[in-house]
Amino acid sequence: MENCIFCKIIRGEIPAKKEYESDSIFVFHDITPQAPIHLLIIPKTHITSMNEIGNLDPKVTNEIFQVIPKLAEKNGILEKGYRVVNNCGNYGGQTVGHLHFHLLGGRHMVWPPG
Ligand code: 5GP
Ligand code: ZN
Repeated sequence: MENCIFCKIIRGEIPAKKEYESDSIFVFHDITPQAPIHLLIIPKTHITSMNEIGNLDPKVTNEIFQVIPKLAEKNGILEKGYRVVNNCGNYGGQTVGHLHFHLLGGRHMVWPPG
């Protein structure tokens, strides 16, 4: 998508601190980290939100979730624990319209979230 900021990050048109990349997914550090570790995991295909997950190749959905514990291990948060978040739509607090999963760790999370 032409004007999507995450598509621009994938294309290298907006700089981002890349953590991991495959043919199908891209992982980078959130520009406004909410925890000592705050990664964003995105499919390279432009999918607007969780509502459209049915449009994503299930292999890619699987890859996203399989890579999460690997990223957690690499970042030293596997044992202590971490949180995976998807904000969907207005009430969900979504601000970027390209499906993404937050991986947050390095501090004790609270519940319920805000
Ligand atoms: P959402 O609020 O949609 O769940 O999450 C969007 C996330 O993208 C936010 O945590 C925000 O800080 C992050 N973000 C927005 N613009 C940029 C950017 O240009 N670069 C990076 N690295 N993160 C961004
Ligand atoms: Zn996009």
